[in-house]
Amino acid sequence: MVENRLNSKAFDRFAEAASAVVNPSIEDWKSQGGRVLGYFCSAFPEELLAAGGILPVRLRATGSEGTELSDSFFSPVNCSFPRHAFNMALSGDYAFIDGVVMFNSCDHIRRIYDHWIRQLDTTFVEILSWPKKAEAAQVEFFRAEFERLRESVEKHFGVELRDDAIEEQIALHNRTRRLLREIYELRKGDAPPINGAEMLTVTVASTAMPKPIYNECLEELLGELKSGDGITDHRARVMMLGGELDNPELIAVIEGQGALVVTDSLCFGSRLLWAQVEEGTGDPLQALAQYYLADRPACARMFTEYDRRAAYIREMVSEFKVDGAIFERLTFCEIYGFEQFSLINDFKEWGVPLLAMDRDYLLSGAGQLRTRVQAFLETMES
Ligand code: SF4
Repeated sequence: MVENRLNSKAFDRFAEAASAVVNPSIEDWKSQGGRVLGYFCSAFPEELLAAGGILPVRLRATGSEGTELSDSFFSPVNCSFPRHAFNMALSGDYAFIDGVVMFNSCDHIRRIYDHWIRQLDTTFVEILSWPKKAEAAQVEFFRAEFERLRESVEKHFGVELRDDAIEEQIALHNRTRRLLREIYELRKGDAPPINGAEMLTVTVASTAMPKPIYNECLEELLGELKSGDGITDHRARVMMLGGELDNPELIAVIEGQGALVVTDSLCFGSRLLWAQVEEGTGDPLQALAQYYLADRPACARMFTEYDRRAAYIREMVSEFKVDGAIFERLTFCEIYGFEQFSLINDFKEWGVPLLAMDRDYLLSGAGQLRTRVQAFLETMES
């Protein structure tokens, strides 16, 4: 768990939520008879489930101790995130969920679905098709996928997911995004009041707490940050790039060498909050499909969207006065392998140093990471 340098009660709640797959706010929700739907990947329309009083929780493998059980179903050259996640599923660590939804995000995640329906007796298991392009035809298809999800959730859980209730949830989730964006804006200054490990703790927690409680804590933290001291003792302003990074301690190791992470393009980071869902369109499902597929910063699996992603990253580099970037990739992840290759060339062209590294899902080899980051900072300083 990241140290509470801010002495903030709100931050304490976020750190609790980010340091385990289940946390007190989920346990409270369950103890009052609430249902929880687990999901993988950031394209999931949380607003749709919340409209029916079901709590959506993004599944991580935080706290995983190994893959002994899942190794019977995954090969060693599969990405370590799905291997650890499925091991937790087989170990019963996800017992708090009443159902699970996945996407065909990549072949590795897809394998979780194929094994889950055969090995586990979860009564509600769905997989949605996530297009790789984001034009009108694909947005229409994605809307139909969300409609299909609405029907199966209503049937299985005996709830109604009405348009007006979805609209209310869109407003509530947009408030979350705006508040988080306000904190990001504070990091553009010369002395940001929050470091990268703390920021990732806050954004990871946003996928594991009921939004009304989360927003209340976020408003409190924002107030504290606005009146708090800035961080001045850092050697370089760094941007984090990559995919499934949900462990703030990895960033704490990097910042321990003197870097200050001031922004990111991560799927548990800025990509969750940079855009807004359009409100009051009269067709909230269409608005959700447009947002989750086309409007928000895209996942690297959307190959045709590379230029838009690179432009987004380029803008961040200048707005946050970034000195250098670190691209982390889970070993064997092809999708972020292609992205890393393309960005290495672009960063060279932009004249901004980039450190590319592969890693395992569990934070191992911290010593080697420290050495590489130190060398990277020295190159920037020289
Ligand atoms: S990190 Fe890559 S391989 Fe692993 S689950 Fe995500 S997209 Fe798939």
